[in-house]
Amino acid sequence: MSRGDLRKVNVQTLTVGAFQENSYLVVDDRTYRAVIIDPGSEGDKLVDAIDNSAAKLEAIWITHAHVDHVGGIASIKRRWDVPIYLHPLDRRLYQAASRQAEVYGIPFEEPPPPDREFADGQVLKLGEIELEVMHAPGHSPGHVVIHGGGIALVGDCLFAGSIGRTDLPFSNPPQLAASLEKISALAPETVVYPGHGMETTIAEERLSNPFLNGTARIVGR
Ligand SMILES: [Zn+2]
Ligand SMILES: [Zn+2]
Repeated sequence: MSRGDLRKVNVQTLTVGAFQENSYLVVDDRTYRAVIIDPGSEGDKLVDAIDNSAAKLEAIWITHAHVDHVGGIASIKRRWDVPIYLHPLDRRLYQAASRQAEVYGIPFEEPPPPDREFADGQVLKLGEIELEVMHAPGHSPGHVVIHGGGIALVGDCLFAGSIGRTDLPFSNPPQLAASLEKISALAPETVVYPGHGMETTIAEERLSNPFLNGTARIVGR
C-alpha cells in the first residue's frame, strides 16, 4: 500500500444517540463515492451531514446488528435507496433490534431488511479504494471488521484501551479472543475506527491495550 492510498481515504466521525455510537462516513476523495458505516441513531442528523457534504452515498455497511448501530438506517434508506450490507449471522439480532430498543427505552425506527450479505474475505470497492471484509465474531455472531487503504472499521470488537463486551446474548468470549488476534495482525500503522470512543492505531493497541499486549485475558463464560 502506498502513502497515496492512505491519503485518499477520508473518514468522518458522526457520534450519535444515547450510547454515543460512532457512525462513519467513508469517502473516496477522488470520486466522492461514499458509504456510511453503522448509522446507529439520529438518522435525520446523519442525512443532513451527508447532504451537506460532497459525498455520493453508495451503500450502508453494518459491522453488527446491536440496537445502537442500526437505529439510523431507516432515515438514510428513505433519502437514498442504497443497499444495506449485513453478515447473515447477525440477521437474528437485526430482527430483534426493536425489542432491544424497548428494553433500553430509546427512540428507534425499525430498519428495512438488509439487501446484501457480507462474507469473510469479500472485497468491497469504493471508488478507487479497495476494502476487505473480515468475519470477526465474538461480540456478536455476525460481526465484521472492514479494513484496507490504511484504515480498519472495527465496530465493537476493539476500542482504544479496551475490547467489546462478551456478556451479551449471543456473545462468545473465545471467538472474540480469536478475532482480536486476527485484528492485531493488521499492519501496525492501520488507523482503527471503533464503534465507541476515540480512534487509535493497531501499533498503539498492541503496545498499551491489556487484551492485546498479554496483560489481560478474556475470561470464558
Ligand atoms: Zn455492539
Ligand atoms: Zn455499540
